[in-house]
Amino acid sequence: MVVQVKPSSHHCSKTIEGTQQKVEANILLLGAENVGKSALTVRFITRRFIGEYGDIESIYSHIDTVDGREISFNIWDSLYPQDSAITESISEKQLQWADGVILVYSICDRSSFEVVRQQVQRIRHASRKMSATAPIIIVGNKRDLQHRRTVSSEEGRLLALSEDCVFFEISAAETYHGVLLVFHGLIDLIKESRALRKGAAGIKSIVRSMSAVFGKKRAE
Ligand code: GDP
Ligand code: MG
Repeated sequence: MVVQVKPSSHHCSKTIEGTQQKVEANILLLGAENVGKSALTVRFITRRFIGEYGDIESIYSHIDTVDGREISFNIWDSLYPQDSAITESISEKQLQWADGVILVYSICDRSSFEVVRQQVQRIRHASRKMSATAPIIIVGNKRDLQHRRTVSSEEGRLLALSEDCVFFEISAAETYHGVLLVFHGLIDLIKESRALRKGAAGIKSIVRSMSAVFGKKRAE
C-alpha cells in the first residue's frame, strides 16, 4: 500500500469549525517487526483484535473524543525495514511529520527491546538537530505471554525513565483499555508540548517587544 505523507500538522494543527476547535495529531508507530504495531493501531481504531495483519504500511485517519474534545488522529503504522541498518530505520520525513511517537517492543522478544533502545536514541539525536520535541511513549506489548517473557517490566520502565519517555506494558490481544490509555496518553503529552512551545514563543515575543521598547528609549 502506498503511504501518503501529508505535510506536518505543526502549523495547521488547530482548525476552527464553528465554535468547536478541532485538534489534529500525527502519531508514528515504530519498532521491530512482529511486535504488534498493526495490532495496536487496529485495536485503537476498531476496538478489535483480529490476529493477522499482513505487512502493510499505511496512514490511518480516525476521529476520537479525548477529554470531551474531538481529536483527528493520523496514525502511521510503519514497517520495520528488513535490509537497512537500524540508523536508517527512521526517516527524517517520518520525524518531521510526527507530533508524537509510539515505540513498540514485545516483552517476549529481547531483540525488539534493543531495537526500541536504538530507535529512541536515534529520535532524541535527530530531534535535537531539528529542534523538535515530539513526545515518545514506549510500549511493551504481548503482556498476556508472561510464560515467554524475556524483558522485565523494570527494564522497560528504566529505559523510558532514562530517555524521558512514558512507559506502558499492555496486551493488544487481551484488552482495548491499555491501547486506549497509550493513544490518549500521547495526546495529553502532545498537548503539553504544544502548550510549552506556545509559551516559549510567547516569552520570545515579550522579550522582543521589551527590547524594542528599551532599544527605542536608549535611542531617544
Ligand atoms: P507488527 O509487525 O509490529 O505490525 O506486528 P503485528 O501487529 O502484525 O502482530 C504480529 C503478531 O503478533 C500477530 O500474529 C499478532 O496476532 C500478534 N500479537 C500482536 N499483539 C499481541 C498481543 O498483545 N499478544 C499476543 N499474544 N499476540 C499479539
Ligand atoms: Mg504491521
